[in-house]
Amino acid sequence: MSKSYFQAPRGTRDILPDESGKWQLILNAFANLATRFGYGQVISPIFEDVGVFQRIGENTEIVSKEMFTFQDKDPKTPQNLALRPELTASICRVFAQHRPTTPWKVWYEGPQFRYEKPQAGRYRQFVQVGAEIIGENDPAADVEIISLAWRFYELIGLKNVSLLLNTLGDSETRATYNRELFSYLSENADNLSPESKNTLTKNPLRVLDSKREGDLQVINNAPTIQDFLNSEDKDHFDSVCDGLNSVNIPFSITPRLVRGLDYYTRTTFEFVADELKTAQNAIGGGGRYDGLVEELGGPPTQGIGFALGVDRILLACESERLELGTRKPLDAFVVDLTGGTHATQIADELRHSGLGVDRSFGGRSMKAQMKVADRSGALYAIIVGDDELEKNEVTLRDLRGDGTQVRVSRSNLKSTLLDSMKRRDS
Ligand code: AMP
Repeated sequence: MSKSYFQAPRGTRDILPDESGKWQLILNAFANLATRFGYGQVISPIFEDVGVFQRIGENTEIVSKEMFTFQDKDPKTPQNLALRPELTASICRVFAQHRPTTPWKVWYEGPQFRYEKPQAGRYRQFVQVGAEIIGENDPAADVEIISLAWRFYELIGLKNVSLLLNTLGDSETRATYNRELFSYLSENADNLSPESKNTLTKNPLRVLDSKREGDLQVINNAPTIQDFLNSEDKDHFDSVCDGLNSVNIPFSITPRLVRGLDYYTRTTFEFVADELKTAQNAIGGGGRYDGLVEELGGPPTQGIGFALGVDRILLACESERLELGTRKPLDAFVVDLTGGTHATQIADELRHSGLGVDRSFGGRSMKAQMKVADRSGALYAIIVGDDELEKNEVTLRDLRGDGTQVRVSRSNLKSTLLDSMKRRDS
């Protein structure tokens, strides 16, 4: 095959049938589960004013380095826009704009865009599903959000998922800890890698994310947030832990889990797929962001949520050898040897009654059409030849069973097919 002129842009992928069937399954499972938990879907624009995302934090890498930004075409005052790198900021913008009653429980799905260095499990366009509860400080909300994600992984059959849990305290606690951490890391800067030294000047918390061998000793001896928590922070965190225990969701408290985004306060969490051997083994994460709505022009409002990476969830399913359902086979394929008009009519009638039906085009030979019918995976072929046409009948051939065929009158075709589908299903 000669190479086509264009390829999908670097860091993006084309998802073809049947792979897309797995995506559909995952997305539907999430939509159904979130609905059962009492969440409604928000569909917001894929791009926003760049300011919406800048509120995530200027020192957050996805804002400072990875955003796809552009201007619109207004000749006088062009607006600076960005493709969304994540959805929590958009959802908070939506909340600040529409002021729905709280607690506002919502879910979302869709592509996100980050100008990252592509590698296995890390793309420039990737899909997230997520959920948020806005306007609620009760630790039970944290427990509900975490259990929605956990039950979702269970629902699709993933077995080896670990939940890492931490608290970053309220914004004051976090600021104090940030200062202490900065002075500790500065004192030990000689033993840090050049990359971490650079991160230190911008965002000391992110140094804790470093997986570089040389940094680990300094990181392991660093002060942890636990020593700085006030009594409300502690109570909140204890209630979250108790709540998770009460619904039997296992977790590991991970004091150095800081996560990439600047807006988190108190509860933070991450889901790791233990079977994923790539560096990118986080299949979801989230936390509380009690200041973000206000940053976006809304009233002071607490919030908590998560985003799960669908691309990586599928990789995790693969590494656990999970059979995600494949596409449902077509019910019938119409082979029309009389020109094609009958295929159009029969397909239309049967599709209308809910059956999955395909047909061939171009008036090809019986042999050629039967080959396509076979390849389509359909359960039956409906054959219309001159003889059938004369008697106002069709031939119904079983393609998956023993290959038997019967003549059926046109008027009985629909009910015969529906009956045999019912028999197959039972
Ligand atoms: P974040 O929005 O950074 O908290 O990421 C939440 C989840 O989205 C991660 O745990 C990953 O599963 C997924 N994710 C984040 N960045 C990427 C990426 N570049 N490619 C694929 N998945 C990603």
